[in-house]
Amino acid sequence: MKPDLSKNKTIGILGGGQLGRMLSSSASKLGFKSHIYDPQKGCPASQVSDLTTVASYEDIKALTNFAKSVDVVTYEFENIPTQALDVIENYVSIYPNRKALLTSQDRLTEKQFLNNIGLNTAPFVNVETDAELKNAINKIGSDSILKTRRFGYDGKGQARLNSKTNLVDIFLSFQGQPCILEGLINFDQEISVIGARDQHGSISCYDPGENIHQNGILRTTIVPARINKKIATDAIIITGKILNALDYIGTIGVELFVKDNKLIVNEIAPRVHNSGHWTQNGCVIDQFEQHVRAITGLPLGDGNRHSNVKMTNLLGDDILNLEQLLNARNSAVH
Ligand code: AMP
Repeated sequence: MKPDLSKNKTIGILGGGQLGRMLSSSASKLGFKSHIYDPQKGCPASQVSDLTTVASYEDIKALTNFAKSVDVVTYEFENIPTQALDVIENYVSIYPNRKALLTSQDRLTEKQFLNNIGLNTAPFVNVETDAELKNAINKIGSDSILKTRRFGYDGKGQARLNSKTNLVDIFLSFQGQPCILEGLINFDQEISVIGARDQHGSISCYDPGENIHQNGILRTTIVPARINKKIATDAIIITGKILNALDYIGTIGVELFVKDNKLIVNEIAPRVHNSGHWTQNGCVIDQFEQHVRAITGLPLGDGNRHSNVKMTNLLGDDILNLEQLLNARNSAVH
C-alpha cells in the first residue's frame, strides 16, 4: 500500500480481540478506516471499527469480499489458517509477510530460524512419538518442557517434566500432536523487546521490558527492565536482526530469557504484543501506531520512552477494583 492519508484507505484486521481493537483505534487516529474479520459476533474490536465481518476463516466467499473491501491486511494473532491467507493474498498485501507467520506458527521452524541466523535458543529436539520423547530426554535431560509445536499460548500446550514424570501419560495427554522438548532454562529474568520495521527498512525498537508471568500468563511488565545497558542493547540488536532476516514490515514482539548476562531467544510474535501495552502511555508513539504506520507505507514515529512504566495485566476479578484503578494517580486503564 502506497502512503496516502488523503483517501481514507481501509485496513483489514484478522481477529477482533483486544489487540485488534487497539490497532483499530490507532488506524482511526491517522485517518484510516478499519475492517475487522472475526468469527465471533460482538468481538471487542467491532465496537471501535468501521466495518466488521463475522465469518469463519474457512468461508472463502466472506474472505474474498473482505479482501476486496480493504487496501491492506494485517492480523492480531499468528494462528490464522493458511488457506484463509491464500484467498486474501489474491487481492491485497498481507503484513507482516507470510514468512514471518510460517516461521512463528511452529516452534520447531521458529527455533531453527533463530539458530540459523546465529541466535541462541534453549536446546530443543523434535518429538513425534513415545520413542522420540525418550531419546529426546536422554539428550536434553529430564528437567525440560514439552511443548506442542503449534497453537500453544499463555502456557497452554506445554508440560514441565522431571525425573518422576510418567512420559507415556504426558505424551498421551498431548494427543499425538507434534511437539518439541526444550531444555529448562533457569533464567534470571524474562524480557521482551517490541520492535517495528517500515517499508524502507528503517527499524525502531522500544526499551526492553521485564516480564513477570503468573501461571504462564503475563502479569506485569516493568520498563526499564532491571538489566545492564549491554544486555539491553544486545536485546535490541537481536530484534533488529530478526526483523531484517524476515524482511519484516510491522511491529514484532521478541521474548528473551536473561541468564548469566547472556540472552536466549524464547519466542517471536509477528504482531503487536501484550507486553508492549505500556508503550501507549510511556512513549510518544506506541506500538499500535508504529504497526499502522509500517503497514500503510508511512515512516515510523518516535518510539522514545518518556516515563518509567509498570504495566499490570487486568485478569478476571481484577476489574472489580475499577474505581480504585481509575482514581490512582499517574495511572491509565485500558
Ligand atoms: P512460551 O509459550 O514458550 O512463551 O512459554 C510460556 C512461559 O513458560 C515463558 O514465558 C516462561 O516463563 C516459561 N518457559 C517457556 N520455555 C521455557 C524454558 N525453556 N525454560 C524455562 N522456562 C520456560
